[in-house]
Amino acid sequence: MSEKMQKYIDEAEKDLLHTYNRYQIVLDRGDGVYLYDIDGKKYLDFVSGIAVFALGYNNKEYNDALKAQIDKLLHTSNYYYNVPAIEAARKIKEVSGMDRVFFTNSGAEAIEGAIKAARKYYFNKTGKNDGQIIAMNHSFHGRTFGALSVTGNPHYREAFEPMIGNISFADLNDFDSVLKLVNDKTCAIIMETVQGEGGIYPATKEFLESVRKLCDEKDILLILDEIQCGMGRTGFMYAWQRYGVKPDIMTTAKALGCGVPVGAFLLNEKVGANSLVAGDHGTTYGGNPFACAAISKVLDLFKQDNIIENVNEVAPYLEKCLDELKEQYDFIVDRRGVGFMQGLVFNRPVAPVINKALENGLILINAGAEIIRFVPPLIITKENVDDMIVILKSCLESI
Ligand SMILES: *Cc1c(COP(=O)(O)O)cnc(C)c1O
Repeated sequence: MSEKMQKYIDEAEKDLLHTYNRYQIVLDRGDGVYLYDIDGKKYLDFVSGIAVFALGYNNKEYNDALKAQIDKLLHTSNYYYNVPAIEAARKIKEVSGMDRVFFTNSGAEAIEGAIKAARKYYFNKTGKNDGQIIAMNHSFHGRTFGALSVTGNPHYREAFEPMIGNISFADLNDFDSVLKLVNDKTCAIIMETVQGEGGIYPATKEFLESVRKLCDEKDILLILDEIQCGMGRTGFMYAWQRYGVKPDIMTTAKALGCGVPVGAFLLNEKVGANSLVAGDHGTTYGGNPFACAAISKVLDLFKQDNIIENVNEVAPYLEKCLDELKEQYDFIVDRRGVGFMQGLVFNRPVAPVINKALENGLILINAGAEIIRFVPPLIITKENVDDMIVILKSCLESI
């Protein structure tokens, strides 16, 4: 590492609140599926800023659209209409089949809105504010209080109790565990269609269908968190579309803005017409012209550049290559995931592998201590997969 880089890292550790154990590189620029640090070292990126930069770095059309919007208008507040927000809403409705959109600044904030919409729906229906929410163990929904309250990882919550009330946890893909928690006060069931941070666990079709049926019978709202698994990553624009199980409320973020901090929660008409009204919810920045110009362009480019087709073409190859690694090394015990959201499960901590990969010019990330997570830009080719496997293998050999 250069002296210059070390100096920046030292400064960061002095000034930035240490809420992350950061990898020891300072990134400077990106191009396609490659990132470069400030010493000019090149990295093949299989993380995409945690499932964010779907289109790859330095996409010219995307950059130009943002630059044009900067010169026009960045912000208006939500008390006025703006064309980028109207267009972004139309486009996201089209790809999701949902009916009402609220734009946020982040994923966690989309979850907050989803929870508020569910509680308000229940309040309107019953006149009471004792509605209960069922969430899943091992889930991750964000770090703000509402989102943390439905996050099924006690470590993340412990020091910050009390959480918001009336939340209980079931096990993903165990319908009986859901049934045990359901009662007349249950107002919503929330889950990631494919769990990300918790270790790359896809919900099964049977589980989703059973939960959907239960929700329909009891007028419980199904909230699907598509913040990580959405936006084409599983080979469908939203992962629930693979299963044909539509949520009442859906959250999306991460790749939605491809680097511009945005999110959204979307409601079907039933919830849209019977929950949040003027005065119930708001945001200063959410849905501003700049953010929405990004969303709008991202959705255009998904179509124009056949992004989802690429996922469906290359993902089976990625799966095959990872399965081969599993066969070759006995310390790799499982491979699971959907599309470009894959986890390689080890029987030991993966940090040494990830650090070695970084040294060798490959960016990987974990999902839990013993799982390497692969969430590459959605534009990767089979050659990129080959290159990744060569580097990863050399790391596996060396540890
Ligand atoms: C990242 C993530 C969030 C939180 O999004 P932020 O933008 O970090 O607030 C919520 N849910 C899931 C599934 C995520 O992966």
